[in-house]
Amino acid sequence: MSPRTVLITGASRGIGRAIALKFSHEGYHLLTPSHAELDLSSNISIDRYVKNLQTKVDILINNAGINRLAAGEECTDEDLDDTLQINLVAPARLARAVIPWMVQQKFGRIINISSIWGVVSKPRRFAYTISKTGINGLTRALAVELGPHNILVNSVVPGYVNTELTQKNNSLQDIQKISDQIPLGRLAEPAEIANLVSFLCSDKNSYITGQMIVIDGGFTCQ
Ligand code: NAP
Repeated sequence: MSPRTVLITGASRGIGRAIALKFSHEGYHLLTPSHAELDLSSNISIDRYVKNLQTKVDILINNAGINRLAAGEECTDEDLDDTLQINLVAPARLARAVIPWMVQQKFGRIINISSIWGVVSKPRRFAYTISKTGINGLTRALAVELGPHNILVNSVVPGYVNTELTQKNNSLQDIQKISDQIPLGRLAEPAEIANLVSFLCSDKNSYITGQMIVIDGGFTCQ
């Protein structure tokens, strides 16, 4: 059997890169378009990318995302539009494009990388929380529609992960404080998120669908 094809957005760094490395080690065929090849802020770019796809996608990982910190009253039109477009509309459009093939072959896996701020919230996460709550809705809607076709759809919901995004949004001092508040006493490493994504996409997962699987070192249990 030829290896399954995985499309991963935002694989240039952070969690996406770790997911790409994991799938690559496991022998999957990877599609990891660069920002220039697939700009999620543009529906024209998304439509062009999916139209020109030469390979059928068996597994879609909607990973790319942005998090521009702002409270509701300070969030600009641009930040609101960009965040909803990149974090929510783009994943929905990509999923819509790959579904027909998955239905035809009666196999598919879709993972939406959400965030704990899509389950709970924190000040200055206005657009981000809206977008990540939305992507959990996307997960549930698709899981219900696609279950009969053996397509499993889940949200992976990380807490704080040691990536550039976290380092940009939090000072070193903040990160130390945050670590002290996490029961496991540290941030997650991107590879730990990748391990969960890999399991959910493997044949070992035959029954988990429509779920928000929190991976946060116990942070939101408190
Ligand atoms: P990151 O290090 O900032 O990387 C983001 C990735 O998304 C990069 O590859 C970036 O590409 C890509 N991207 C951003 N805007 C794009 C666009 N318009 N078109 C195409 N690609 C775009 O982020 P991360 O920390 O790995 O986060 C990955 C995902 O996990 C995101 O959805 C994030 O919300 C979620 N998450 C992260 C954390 C955390 O603590 N880090 C926690 C919970 C959830 P370029 O490099 O080309 O810009």
